[in-house]
Amino acid sequence: MSLVVQKYGGTSVGDTGRILNVARKVAATHGAGNQVVVVVSAMSGVTDSLIKLARDISPNPTEREMDVLLATGEQTTIALTAMAVNSLGKKAVSLTGAQAGIITDGVHTKAKIANITPRQIQDFLDEGYIVIVAGFQGSTLEGHVTTLGRGGSDLTAIALSSAIKASVCQIFTDVEGVYTCDPRVVPTARKLDEISYDEMLEMASSGSKVMQSRSVEFAKKFSVLFEVRSSFSDKPGTIVKEETMSMENVVIRGISIERNQAKVTISQVPDKPGVASRFFTAVAEANLMVDMIVQNVSFSGTTDISFTLHKEDLPKAKEVLEPVLKETGARELVARDGIAKLSVVGIGMRSHSGVAAQLFECLGRGGINIQMISTSEIKIAVILDEDKIVEAANLAHEAFGLGNS
Ligand code: ADP
Ligand code: ASP
Ligand code: MG
Repeated sequence: MSLVVQKYGGTSVGDTGRILNVARKVAATHGAGNQVVVVVSAMSGVTDSLIKLARDISPNPTEREMDVLLATGEQTTIALTAMAVNSLGKKAVSLTGAQAGIITDGVHTKAKIANITPRQIQDFLDEGYIVIVAGFQGSTLEGHVTTLGRGGSDLTAIALSSAIKASVCQIFTDVEGVYTCDPRVVPTARKLDEISYDEMLEMASSGSKVMQSRSVEFAKKFSVLFEVRSSFSDKPGTIVKEETMSMENVVIRGISIERNQAKVTISQVPDKPGVASRFFTAVAEANLMVDMIVQNVSFSGTTDISFTLHKEDLPKAKEVLEPVLKETGARELVARDGIAKLSVVGIGMRSHSGVAAQLFECLGRGGINIQMISTSEIKIAVILDEDKIVEAANLAHEAFGLGNS
């Protein structure tokens, strides 16, 4: 008998008909002789609506109460899914994150899993139940409800698979697997049969929201092999696993885009030790996440520093940087949104040269201006105008020969 973990995302449980579809798939897996643990998300749109409700009440609700509120989304789904499985004549039981033994730290709205004690899950499995666990949530040791960051049901599924030593971990979603690029952006995108943890991690953290990046990090750390596949078909999906020798032969595995970025440029910053640190300490102390950073060559004792961040963080960044601008004697701060990031990812880049040239050439041919560039061992990322990002993704996809045709 195998122990199977299946996770169903928001669209897959988006209405009662879809919850019944999930129940049938789960019952069939159980009927084939497996023990089954199911992780479900909130029904699509529910988490966003709850966030909106909170904002209508207060511009700054406490993060503790946000978690109490957001956790209700997944609780609705576990109860409905358990009812649906029961209606098919199978025994199912729903468990909240706390009941499932998921203990986290106390960082509300982006808690980290500290440990999992899956005793209740194990007891119910032993009694022949299908166990339905609420994704995205846990509890502190003191019993406070926490959530794991947007997309966090992926993390629940991966972490539970590791804790209960599942033999199979399946992430069911609304596309047939991980594609060479978001198929909603690049219509010729192709489903990948497999992808390495490192590539999936780079793609997830540079905007491919098909998997939450923290969940991929966890999977890599604890060697949880998993499959991303569709809840609306029976086709095999994409296997995410440790890299193999043959994977290096593919130079570019995929392309990610991230919209809603903003760029800040601070010009004529005195070029001396400690100045950059003052700007970035101010930004870090305001809990703002900076992405790309570029500093120009010093010219007559001053330099320009540019960085990107999420556009929602721009007003706060300006507020905390203005005083540092005055203190350091830098000339001015120019900020703009309406930019986006395009990343090309592949472990084959380690052993192949010329990828950057090929990317820049195809963007140049398309008349698309590159504003910033950053590279890592397996990624090249560029900042572009947001209104060019779809065109750029399609051009790069074609230039690297990633499509179907
Ligand atoms: P779920 O609700 O099941 O967690 P998400 O909406 O979080 O699903 O993730 C699935 C979506 O991710 C797809 O509908 C697709 O538009 C998007 N996506 C972005 N990049 C990719 C990619 N490279 N491959 C597949 N899907 C992607
Ligand atoms: N419901 C949460 C969200 O929308 C978690 C998830 O779906 O994974 O982010
Ligand atoms: Mg998701």
